[in-house]
Amino acid sequence: MNLAEFIIKIESFNSNVNIPLIRKAYEFSDRAHAGQKRQSGEPFVEHCLEVAFILAEQHMDSTTIAAGLIHDVVEDTGVTLEEVRREFGDEIAELVDAVTKIGEVQFESREEQQVEYFRKMLLSMAKDIRVILIKLADRLHNMRTLEHLPVEKRTRIARETYDVYSPLAHRFGIARVKIELEDLSLKYLEPQVYFDLVQLIKEKKEEREAYIEEVVTPLKAAMEADGIKATVYGRAKHLDSIYRKTRVRGVSFDQIYDLFAIRLIVNTERECYHALGIIHSMWKPVGNRFHDYIANPKPNGYRSLHTTVFGPRSRMVEIQIRTHQMHHVAENGIAAHWLYKEGRQMMGKSDRQMVWLRDVLEWQKDMTNPSEFLEYLRIDLFTEDIFVFTPNGKLIHLPQGATPLDFAFQIHTEIGIHCAGAKVNNRLQPLSAELQSGSTVEIITNPNRTPSHDWLKLVKTSNARSKIRRWLKQAGLDQSIALGREIVERKLKESHVAMPDDEELQGYAEQLNKKTVEDLLAAIGNGSMTARPLLNLIVPEEEKAETGFVGKVIERIRGTKGIKVHGMDNMMFRFAGCCQPVPGEDIVGFITRGRGVTVHRADCPGAIDLQEESPERQIDVSWDTARGQSFVVQLDMIVEDRKNMLRDVTQAIADINTNVRAAEMYTRDTTAAGKFVVEVSSLSHLNRIIDKVRKVKGVISVVRAKGADTVEHN
Ligand code: MN
Repeated sequence: MNLAEFIIKIESFNSNVNIPLIRKAYEFSDRAHAGQKRQSGEPFVEHCLEVAFILAEQHMDSTTIAAGLIHDVVEDTGVTLEEVRREFGDEIAELVDAVTKIGEVQFESREEQQVEYFRKMLLSMAKDIRVILIKLADRLHNMRTLEHLPVEKRTRIARETYDVYSPLAHRFGIARVKIELEDLSLKYLEPQVYFDLVQLIKEKKEEREAYIEEVVTPLKAAMEADGIKATVYGRAKHLDSIYRKTRVRGVSFDQIYDLFAIRLIVNTERECYHALGIIHSMWKPVGNRFHDYIANPKPNGYRSLHTTVFGPRSRMVEIQIRTHQMHHVAENGIAAHWLYKEGRQMMGKSDRQMVWLRDVLEWQKDMTNPSEFLEYLRIDLFTEDIFVFTPNGKLIHLPQGATPLDFAFQIHTEIGIHCAGAKVNNRLQPLSAELQSGSTVEIITNPNRTPSHDWLKLVKTSNARSKIRRWLKQAGLDQSIALGREIVERKLKESHVAMPDDEELQGYAEQLNKKTVEDLLAAIGNGSMTARPLLNLIVPEEEKAETGFVGKVIERIRGTKGIKVHGMDNMMFRFAGCCQPVPGEDIVGFITRGRGVTVHRADCPGAIDLQEESPERQIDVSWDTARGQSFVVQLDMIVEDRKNMLRDVTQAIADINTNVRAAEMYTRDTTAAGKFVVEVSSLSHLNRIIDKVRKVKGVISVVRAKGADTVEHN
């Protein structure tokens, strides 16, 4: 294709196209890429022309076509972005810049990089959606010419196309690009499957076309008889969709009867329904295979009527009915917004795809874990939607596998947060039930009900998930603030000092580099800072409490990791000295004035007392130990007072790979008492130590320290 041919072709798509701009962009690109060749041996500028042509086919505006022509100059030639800006202005320069930046990140297997990649792409798309259209056109031409690349590169690019670009094309409703990208990916990822399918489609061509004629001819006649101007044709389905069907249904290729579909394109929406009526009176519809995507468009904007009928010779035939306008949107998706709107950015804020894009950008901020982000993005991109109804008949789209809880959050955040139960088709269902298309869902709310961490496992949508997360975070924050305040108040009370008012506290907060009093108290409450710096500001000469020797060892080395409070990390807690819990034991937590949360063994007498006295202070805690993390436990023992006793016990403990952090032994008449502080990783580890020590000659008893009092010296 040369420039003259190119211009003639694009004018056939859009007669308003700005020829001087296109010519200038072409010449600029041709000069910049002069001497560069593609792997195929063609001059590089051919690629630019092809990309621009794909954009023109989608009826894109002149700005986008021009940007398509020069999309590679900054990346692949000495031309700078500033030159592009000088020559073509800000709009085109921004498009080229965004496309170049996406190109800089490689889609790799590492999840962090994949996330970075998607994030960049989504952000640049949110600024100007035409970026993704140019990127898709670029990718489509690269896929068409993939055979010229070395094999490993082919597979990587095909995989990336299948994983990233065709789902995006689908999400934005650009069916023609999506279909071609999928089939080309299949060709390189599953060559055998691809060529088998091509062969099959070819073999059945005559038979298929003959049958299509049998359907199309009477259809056309029937439409004409009723005064409907319709374009009717049959077309083979695309290869990847056939392949996927065989996999989903677990059948071989020749068992798939619907290798083609009939399309009927009319002028008005009314005629769509009229035509449907005619078809159903000609051929009996197959139950359950009728979809009204006109009344209920797909989330990507697709609209059509789909029906399957028992056609001539009782063969099942799928028929799609749509208007020309719907057809244009179905083929070009989001690009259709530029049709007849030359030169203006026409995406409205409420356009479905833009809403989706903004939602993704919103929730990705809350995602700290890359694999989680990818998982939810994949659900958003790949899964087919189901639709369900509110009791008032409002249609709600959800991904497959969504639960009543997803539904509740989709209706309204407050309904989600207080969701207590659900009725699906008037029957009570658990919140974890998988919803089916067509169901009516009613949510039962209870103002006292609030989210828990378990809810994250019940939801499928990123929307619900991010709202639950946000709520939990806020609740955790409130709890930290309250805890922080308690800690400070308690410490001040010990020194007989009153809590400063908020204005005063604000001053201290700023001195400690915190924006607000809440930030300061939350930091103290969640343990990310101690109360000490604040207390020093309020009462500079505050004193420290005394603790015994072994007790100090335990406080110092027990650390601040290994427990989740109410499912949250980073809450300030300490292990109770009285029972020294180790992983594997049931534990309970109590909010303790001044010391965050104290963790006891569930059977500790101290904990049982606390439970009775002040149940409101009890809080859920769970083990969250890292590999290799250890806990110190004090063992009390009574032994015969003999030579080398201390050495032998120490040796016995060391034999099972256990660290001794402190040891003391002192004589009482004929026996001696010992205290050993050892590091254990679990309950079974501790029991092994106790067994081993019991076997040491002269050991009378070994027990885990029962209470803090045993820490004191006799
Ligand atoms: Mn390119």
